[in-house]
Order: sequence, then structure tokens, then C-alpha cells
Amino acid sequence: MYAPPGVKTSKDFPIPDEQKAWVLGDPGRLTLTKKAIPVPGKAEVLVRIDAIAICATDLEVIYHGPPALIEGGLPFNKNWTPGHEYMGTVVALGTGVDEFSIGDRITVEIHAGCGQCKRCREGMYTSCHNYGKNYGDVNKGHRANGFTSDGGFCEYAINNINTMVKVADDMSDEEATLVVTAGTAMYGLTELGGLIAGESVVVTGPGPIGLLGVGVAKAMGANPVILTGTRDNRLAIGKKLGADHVINVKNENAVEGVKRILGGKGADYVLECSAAPNALNEAMLMCNRGAKICLAAFPHGSVPVDVANIVRNNIYVYGIRGEGKSATHRAQAFMEQKRFDARLIHTHTFALDDLPEAIRYAKDRVEDAIKVVVKMRGSVAKKMAAE
Ligand SMILES: [Zn+2]
Ligand SMILES: [Zn+2]
Repeated sequence: MYAPPGVKTSKDFPIPDEQKAWVLGDPGRLTLTKKAIPVPGKAEVLVRIDAIAICATDLEVIYHGPPALIEGGLPFNKNWTPGHEYMGTVVALGTGVDEFSIGDRITVEIHAGCGQCKRCREGMYTSCHNYGKNYGDVNKGHRANGFTSDGGFCEYAINNINTMVKVADDMSDEEATLVVTAGTAMYGLTELGGLIAGESVVVTGPGPIGLLGVGVAKAMGANPVILTGTRDNRLAIGKKLGADHVINVKNENAVEGVKRILGGKGADYVLECSAAPNALNEAMLMCNRGAKICLAAFPHGSVPVDVANIVRNNIYVYGIRGEGKSATHRAQAFMEQKRFDARLIHTHTFALDDLPEAIRYAKDRVEDAIKVVVKMRGSVAKKMAAE
């Protein structure tokens, strides 16, 4: 029976000695294995994972490696478990934890950071200066679950209390896995971008972050919110999430479309989620002087950029990594208040044993999968339609 010294457990939530866990072997190869249940330390808890969503960044990590960084290098063949967008139930408390109780339903953010560098102290723990330093003689205790420490394609994981958000009782497990995605859009638009009500926002690319970016922008009072993309069904979901206008760039040039809607002046904000090679150049043509462009997608390779345009027009361009400054808490608050319906982007559910098939759905966008969720227990039919 799991009973490490100094760790509080409860007979209501019995913990086995070992768990099922997927580990990454060679690129693209995942194996279901058994692992010991990890032990929470100071300010940490043990989470029984109930559901986890698959993210495009998981696919990057599983097939290519970065931005995962394990023991100073690529994550392959290190008995390491990927996966980062999970939710679950607190089942054991490490030393000094009274912020959470056993039985609390929580969802997580990914980065605990190291807690001691300049950026962590500023709340920008997703930009921790000690990223990946959690081993051997460079151990600064950095954690980014599913990137530099074990992730959630398994049954139990350790979380620092600062990476957890309590979930509303009436929010389903599946919906709760989406809080962190909304938190990423939130961090880009509000904490880093300073978005206030009444400003115009263009979101380019209706992937998960883009679609929830629409929801967050609208909930923040942005006006109007414009979404661009190539697939009408995704644009229709964007409308349900709060987009005032959508532009299918197969039918209309995105820059001309934005100028048509905004009367030639262009947008105050562009949230770039498409990763298209010319996306930044187009974004600066869509926005007005002094506007802000938030880059939230990873293009493959470097791209030529019209820097003079940025300079002449006083445009602010910034990247985001993940969801800093507790943005996830604010995203959960919006979702709890039903300010947008994140469930619209959840399309498929699989059982933990079927993770490779779930990943295939996410990677090849089978049946136009947007967010694929894996449930850890209970009987999950091989897949089911969204709620
Ligand atoms: Zn993610
Ligand atoms: Zn740090």
C-alpha cells in the first residue's frame, strides 16, 4: 500500500503501489508500461488523473522532441511520460500543504518553473531561466509537467500547488482539461497584451488556442472579434464561441477582409495561431499603428519578416510560451461563469489504453478532430461524440 513518510493520504482514495503509464521510446513510439506512484514533496500533491487532452505540442514532443527537455537533452528512451493538459482529483498531500484537500477536483497548468529565477519571481514561470534544470548537479527543481518532468499520459502525477486550479462541480472532466488552453489564450491577450474592453481583435487560425482565444477575447469585452481560417465548420464553431465576424481566407484575402470589417484602420490586436509562413507579415497589415501582435503558434523553420513595417508603425510583436501569471485561474473563472462554451472544441474521447489511436486522431485530424480527450477509467467506448 502507498504510504510514504510525511505524505497524507485518505482511505477514501486508496492509492495502488504502481500505475499504468505510457513512456516515450524512439520518436513517435509510445509503450504502455508500469511505473511506481511518485511521492509529493513540500508544496506538492499527488493527483489521480481523470482525463487529459492531447495538444499539438504533445505531437511535436512525441515525434520531434523539443520543447521537451529531459536530463539536458531530447526526451527519447528516458522512461519519460509525456502529456500536459490533464485534470483530476487530489489524493495525497505533501509536506505543508493546506491549500488543497484530498478529494478536490482540480485542473492543472503545466509550468511550476523553478521558483527562484527572475522570471519565476515575476510570475512569468513559463519563461523560467532554469528550464529543464531538474537533474544531477544542475538540479534547481524546475517542473513543466509533460516537458521537463513526467506528464499525464498515466494514472498519477505530482503537481506543485501553484499549478492547480479547483474546478467547478458542474464542469465535466472533459471540459476541465480545456482550461489550460483557454489560459494560454488569456495569458497572450490580457496578462502580456493588456487587452481591455472595446478593442478589436483578430484571431488567425481556428485551432484550439485560436478558438478559445475568440471566447476569451469576447468575454473580455473585445469588440469586434474577427476569426480567420480555411474551414467553414471551424469558423462556425468560432461564431458560437463569440466571433462577430469570420473570414474564410479561401474566399477572401484575410487582410482585405479585416480592413473591410474595420473600415480600413485595422485591428488593435492580432492573436496569431495559424503558424502559416506569411502569418506575421499579414498580421502587421491587418493591424493599426501601435497595435499588438501575439504569436501563439510554432511555424516550421524561420520566415522572412518585413521588419521596417513593424518599426514604422510602432507595432508590438511578442511570443508566448504557455500560460503564465496564473492566467489559468482567470480562464477557469470565465468557464465556470459560462462566458464561453469550451466544450464546443472537444470532439473525441478515448480510453487510456487507446492512446496511440487517440494521438492518430489528433495528428491526422481524423473526422476533423479538434480536441481529443483521453479518460483514465470507467468504460469509454472506443470513441464517442462530443458532449
Ligand atoms: Zn498544450
Ligand atoms: Zn525559474
